[in-house]
Amino acid sequence: MFARDHKTSSQQSIVKGDMLHPFSSVDQMSAQGSRIMKRAEGVRLWDGLGNEYIDSAASLWCVNVGYGRTEIIDAMARQGYDLPFYHSFNGMGNEPALALTDKILSLAPGNMRKVFFGSSGSDANDTTAKIVWYYNNLRGKPDKKKLISRWRSYHGVAGAAGSLTGLSVVHKLFDLPGERFFHVSAPDLYREPERDAQSYADELDALIRREGPETVAAFWAEPVMGTGGVLTPPDGYFEAIKSVLDEHDILLVFDEVITGYGRLGEWFGAQHFNVAPDLIVTAKGLTSLYAPLSAVLVGDKVWNIIDEQRQEVGVFGHGFTSTAHPISAAAGLANLRIIEEEGLVEQAGAAGRRFFTMLKSAVGDHPLVGDVRAGGFMAGVELVAERSSATPFPVDLGVSGRVREAAMKQGLLVRALTNDVIAFSPPFNTDETDMKLITDRFAATLDVMYDHLKSEGHLKGW
Ligand code: PLP
Repeated sequence: MFARDHKTSSQQSIVKGDMLHPFSSVDQMSAQGSRIMKRAEGVRLWDGLGNEYIDSAASLWCVNVGYGRTEIIDAMARQGYDLPFYHSFNGMGNEPALALTDKILSLAPGNMRKVFFGSSGSDANDTTAKIVWYYNNLRGKPDKKKLISRWRSYHGVAGAAGSLTGLSVVHKLFDLPGERFFHVSAPDLYREPERDAQSYADELDALIRREGPETVAAFWAEPVMGTGGVLTPPDGYFEAIKSVLDEHDILLVFDEVITGYGRLGEWFGAQHFNVAPDLIVTAKGLTSLYAPLSAVLVGDKVWNIIDEQRQEVGVFGHGFTSTAHPISAAAGLANLRIIEEEGLVEQAGAAGRRFFTMLKSAVGDHPLVGDVRAGGFMAGVELVAERSSATPFPVDLGVSGRVREAAMKQGLLVRALTNDVIAFSPPFNTDETDMKLITDRFAATLDVMYDHLKSEGHLKGW
């Protein structure tokens, strides 16, 4: 629809300013400016100086259809010309949001009934927590409000979402987690190979019994944990967890902000693991983040209670001005159409298996690599100071952050996570040549890092 002009306004890669940067060092940012990305196409980005990078992370696990998809941009522009915005309060609606609701429900597990739109994974997790509390108030169980999630999980940064998150960086100095929030261990097949599914279910059961089952409302989990280190559960994990939850009348919430809409080779992680959560939280991949949009999927167990008591409920007193934003909804429809028409869900599954093999063969034997793991088209490489003892690097060394910086010098964008895990989640349509480029550049990055760490005396046993 529109000609694309790649001329950029300035030739800068670093620009000083007063933007308060998310998840960036306050200290470092006081001295340095923002690093500017100017342009993107397919799986590549170019910075302000014209340097090219391959994006092995789909930005933050989200640009799943790749950059430069004119179908999405045109759909947004068309919607903007017709109706850029009108609110959805007081029963108002818009066509793309209603069409997207139908589309989401047609792809989701069969027990999903309703969709609530917001604009980020964080607000969607907060909405979900509030719906869980609402449900138990309506059921006459006002004391059943505690929420259990897992250490290392990431559910975002808003009040409830930040409390559910199990990472100290999100809690520190923000007075989180709040009183109703509890955490159990995340499965880690590399560091705790002896633990099986039942041991995690037993840990959860013990916490529920300690707190009193009549006070516990829901358990939250990412099907494959992303930011916590690309952690996949052991066989039978969700079945074992679900049977504990069912015994105590506790809801299961899947946070599918990363896994929703294809990342695991199925439309939802719930289908991949063959479990039926009561609520599903989604965002990122819904629009491939061409526009901000989140969607909470409400299952029949919860919806039926709200529906049965509609007289008493009156107004559902929750919603954002931007809820069901028509331009974001148009982006979501166009994005899901691309995923469906190009068979990208199946492609993500196949590409994930291929990428894991390539990554293992490129770096699996590298002296810095303790573990290479994957779930669908998400992969993680855990870096260690000594392979045989799986000794981690001291946290202050910031090894994964240094690897991220070194990778940029090789023309590669990766995600650096806590516990020195480097994560990969390329766009679903990344081809084999580009996958090879990613693994080659990553191997070259690790070689450079190895030399640095060795000369600094940080490698045990070398
Ligand atoms: N939940 C999960 C599983 C996520 O990975 C993220 C972001 O990475 C969020 C929630 C928060 O999403 P947002 O950053 O859009 O608030």
